[in-house]
Amino acid sequence: MTPEQQQIRDLAREFAENEIRPFSAEWDEAHHFPREVVAKLGELGFLGMVLPEEYDGLGLDSATYLMALEEIARGDASVAVSMGVHNSLPTQMILANGTPGQKERWLKPMARGEVLGAFSLSEPDSGSDAAGMLAQARKVDGGWVLNGAKAWVTNGGFGDVVVTMLRTDTPDDRRGAKGIGAFIVPTNTEGYVVGRREEKMGQRASETVGIAFHEMFVPDDQLLGDPSQGFIYALKGLDAGRLGIAALAVGISQAALEHSLAYAAERRQFGKAIREFEGMQFKLANMATRIEAARALLHRAAAAKDAGEPVAKLAAMAKLFASEAAMYVTTEAVQVFGGYGYVREYPVEKLFRDAKVTEIYEGTSEIQKLVIARELYR
Ligand SMILES: Cc1cc2nc3c(=O)[nH]c(=O)nc-3n(C[C@H](O)[C@H](O)[C@H](O)COP(=O)(O)OP(=O)(O)OC[C@H]3O[C@@H](n4cnc5c(N)ncnc54)[C@H](O)[C@@H]3O)c2cc1C
Repeated sequence: MTPEQQQIRDLAREFAENEIRPFSAEWDEAHHFPREVVAKLGELGFLGMVLPEEYDGLGLDSATYLMALEEIARGDASVAVSMGVHNSLPTQMILANGTPGQKERWLKPMARGEVLGAFSLSEPDSGSDAAGMLAQARKVDGGWVLNGAKAWVTNGGFGDVVVTMLRTDTPDDRRGAKGIGAFIVPTNTEGYVVGRREEKMGQRASETVGIAFHEMFVPDDQLLGDPSQGFIYALKGLDAGRLGIAALAVGISQAALEHSLAYAAERRQFGKAIREFEGMQFKLANMATRIEAARALLHRAAAAKDAGEPVAKLAAMAKLFASEAAMYVTTEAVQVFGGYGYVREYPVEKLFRDAKVTEIYEGTSEIQKLVIARELYR
């Protein structure tokens, strides 16, 4: 770690310790975290970590950003997923594919945390097979008219702007993955409707909503890049997104390990602390080893990304391994706590619930394996 990385990581840890962790259970219970937290993340520069300084970002590399994201997730995974989606997907897609005017207009307020971003690819009937989407953009004079339903949008109502993918081909000339465009849509646009708020197993403070577009007009300058390339832009964005989810999974795991170490030292059975039992020591050793391995793979992938190397395979590997490690570690953490691990009063029950979705969103574990296998034969 460089001194700068150490400094940013410490800042993220301190912020998570003081401003996030103490309220995490309360936000989970209320299915809500306050907007002020987003503003504070913005003040720290944490919503523009990998954006260049010319767009008011911190201009950091991916490795440093992912270290900070791990620390935020160690405090609370719901806050981390909002921060991660914003940093990895909408902002990076605009940076990579936007015109100078679009970058100037959107990235500066996004970097400062005044505008929180979301990413909307999934639909009720197309998840893993995202290119099978149905939502349609129709070209009209001066812009596009958007219609259709999207599903599972993190920050979709709470946020201010969504980068969303819709079909730009026509029903009589379907072009599959090459018939999809990406649009920048402020959530206060007329015709933007926030639907069902999902009642989730974990990460309950983060917002996950269905959205619908009803004859919603967006001007031409809100189309991102080429109208036939939106799906490709989204897939490239997801490589960065998956590193974010891996960092999130490592943060959840690290919190579970720390709680387990403390509890095993304090809880006494058979006249001694349970950490004295070899069976317990093996458990803690396995948990710690998987976390280190997940973190090492994540940072191997981050280094490749920062060196400008192709990252699809490593990002999928990092997400696959770190999310499965998070399920292993949090399951073991519940076991370390015994009956107390199963009740809300203690923190590991929430960590267990928070871990599961890391194996699902931004591509399930099965889809990560398909990506890895495809890259192995490339
Ligand atoms: C909390 C949460 C937040 C989310 N946030 C966002 C967001 O911000 N933006 C967004 O666009 N989406 C978001 N999603 C959607 C998420 O990315 C999808 O849920 C995920 O991609 C899986 O799609 P699906 O739920 O439709 O499952 P399906 O695709 O229907 O999959 C069902 C099962 O079939 C398996 N499967 C599917 N295809 C294959 C195959 N070819 N081979 C083997 N197995 C296969 C899957 O792995 C899974 O086990 C979010 C989801 C959740 C739960």
